[in-house]
Amino acid sequence: MTDDADRAQIHEAEFLANSLAGAKPADGPAPVIIDGVPCCAECESEIPPARIAAMPGVGLCVACQQELESE
Ligand SMILES: [Zn+2]
Repeated sequence: MTDDADRAQIHEAEFLANSLAGAKPADGPAPVIIDGVPCCAECESEIPPARIAAMPGVGLCVACQQELESE
């Protein structure tokens, strides 16, 4: 009976990751796929794989994300 505990732990990890990133990818735009590569929905530059790994579904590059958050 460790399912609930495991799920809680995963949820906590996700919450922590989102808090650290200061971003909620689910609320943002989806990335545009250019030649099979996920690219920024704003400027169409390639989104680094590390960024996607940290925030699955993120649709903006770092620069555009920061611009969005500074508004
Ligand atoms: Zn961008």
